[in-house]
Amino acid sequence: MMMTRFASLAVFAVFILSACSSPDQSSNGAATPTAAQEKITLKLAHGWPKGYPIFGESVDDFKALVESLSDGKLEIKVDSTNKHKSAFGIFDFVKSGQYDIGQTASYYYGGKDPDTLFFSSMPFSMTTQEQTAWFYEGGGLELANQVYAKHNIEVMLGGNTGMQMGGWFRKEINSIDDLKGLKMRIPGFGGKVIAGVGAVPTNIPAGELYQALERGTIDALEWVAPGLDLRMGFHKVAPYYYTGWHEPGTELMYFFNTDTMEKLPNWAKSVLRNAARLTAYNMTTTTFDANTENWAAISSQFPDVQIKQFPAEVIAALKESNQKLIDQEIARSPIAKEILESRAAYLEKARSWTKIGEQSYLESIAQ
Ligand code: CA
Repeated sequence: MMMTRFASLAVFAVFILSACSSPDQSSNGAATPTAAQEKITLKLAHGWPKGYPIFGESVDDFKALVESLSDGKLEIKVDSTNKHKSAFGIFDFVKSGQYDIGQTASYYYGGKDPDTLFFSSMPFSMTTQEQTAWFYEGGGLELANQVYAKHNIEVMLGGNTGMQMGGWFRKEINSIDDLKGLKMRIPGFGGKVIAGVGAVPTNIPAGELYQALERGTIDALEWVAPGLDLRMGFHKVAPYYYTGWHEPGTELMYFFNTDTMEKLPNWAKSVLRNAARLTAYNMTTTTFDANTENWAAISSQFPDVQIKQFPAEVIAALKESNQKLIDQEIARSPIAKEILESRAAYLEKARSWTKIGEQSYLESIAQ
């Protein structure tokens, strides 16, 4: 199945590449790959265990696509956390040039630069489709690159998880008091939001999540959604599975070391950027598909899972905490203000259409 999908992607990508590279070929013969040209090898680090479903497989797709599009002249060597041992080290690896390319989530690096928190997903914010349009058409990717340029990094979208679930809890959440003192793995802005209502957020790499929940290091966790969550076994120790609010469409990112990119010929840059864009599209589709498959099987294969929604009182308190933090961020720095106002303006415009488009469709045919 992987091979079939990749083959069709590659065929599609060849058309894009030939369209993108023809100006280079006509204006600068030196940029055209030739048989005599040396192979370029780039090192890539991703933040997941080796072979990790979807996120890790997506990097394997990227590698295969880059090597195929470049006719083998561009080689990608991929290291997982099994090799580099640092799930949240991707930012530093690429910034320093220890690795040329990284694949990770931007919001893991709020401690390095608080402005990176806004480029994965934000609580109560845009869905996957809305946010992807913001990135590509609404100035979002330019803003991300403005933030990352300070760190010697160029970014491209890395694929979206779609709507994420609110997480796995050992106990039911019936009121805001049930969140007070609750130790929960939840990264990014969502973590700050639950801290605002008295919970204790933490971040833990994918490979250590089950153990942390099983041993009681944490009381609850959020990871992604059924497509990735069910195979992790969380339901065995935390049967309450809440619907989402904090990550309505989380985008992964490719990081490219700026010095590496500047040294590459134009055709190679074009291959990397177009392969990233295609791989991101592919991962978004793969995740949606995995969610539909696992959701369809949840009641037969995981009968103990109890699907819950947070009470209105809890959602209202989380929204209030979120807004307080947004106001603080807007006051903190001009670039944070610019990003958050850009997100808010795009959300308003996009949501208005989503409501009259998809939401009206779903509501009207359900009557
Ligand atoms: Ca998540």
